[in-house]
Amino acid sequence: MLDGKRAVITGSTSGIGLGIARELASHGADVVISGFGDPKTIEKERVSIELEFAVKAYYVSADLTDAAATRQFIEEAAQTLGGVDILVNNAGIQHTDRIEDFPIERWDAIIALNLSAVFHGTAAALPYMKKQGWGRVVNIASAHGLVASPNKSAYVAAKHGVVGLTKVTALETAGSGITANALCPGWVRTELVEKQIRAIAQNEGLEVEDAARQLLAEKQPSLQFVTPKQLGGAVVFLCSEAADQMTGTAMSMDGGWVAR
Ligand code: NAD
Repeated sequence: MLDGKRAVITGSTSGIGLGIARELASHGADVVISGFGDPKTIEKERVSIELEFAVKAYYVSADLTDAAATRQFIEEAAQTLGGVDILVNNAGIQHTDRIEDFPIERWDAIIALNLSAVFHGTAAALPYMKKQGWGRVVNIASAHGLVASPNKSAYVAAKHGVVGLTKVTALETAGSGITANALCPGWVRTELVEKQIRAIAQNEGLEVEDAARQLLAEKQPSLQFVTPKQLGGAVVFLCSEAADQMTGTAMSMDGGWVAR
């Protein structure tokens, strides 16, 4: 279904981004994976995508908290793939603290990566999509792009910003063959969330699995984690013809989190 499409997925050396890259590749897209991590592990993932799905997979990376590096990264990825059809802005980080205790450098880093990199990446990729009259921008926001939680000021501000930026991207590209949508996951058991589970376990003297259940119970009525593969499936749908008229939306996949 996505044969010949060229997809760039930021933050795809682990977690949700890797799940999305694998799902896009399983539908025939060539992919650029990116992000930090152990070079041997990244190379293993890259090769396994190529072998399993018979597509091209490349690793191109940069520190996306840097505006110029982010724009350069998209240029490099486009050169490597021979263009860009699909951009998944996924890279993100978290830090929790009350507003008055929130370290300034953590605020700056979260806004830079979780929000500004989405802007810079989109700005660099849109000219490629406009030239060919087809494109898909999928921004991985969060349930926290729609509702708030205490101690997550930077993350909630950035993710609400991503939902707004997605709407503007959709309006500026409407009718051009390009769509822009945000995906709003609830809890997904990646390293980003594992850290929060470990913190609950430590603070409340719980076993890790009991802390995971407590985390779910607080927000996610299904009491089940969303998986990277399920999110990949949603991205594949957004890249399909069925979603040609779906643009500017914030699509929830959160086990009912924002329904209550
Ligand atoms: P993760 O920690 O597993 O993956 C984050 C990815 O971003 C990694 O590939 C990492 O190397 C990369 N990255 C980190 N800093 C970077 C930088 N400065 N420059 C470039 N790449 C960088 O986290 P995840 O849970 O898979 O999160 C992916 C996205 O999904 C994030 O935007 C996150 O906010 C969002 N999200 C996660 C959850 C969840 O429950 N895990 C829920 C909703 C939304």
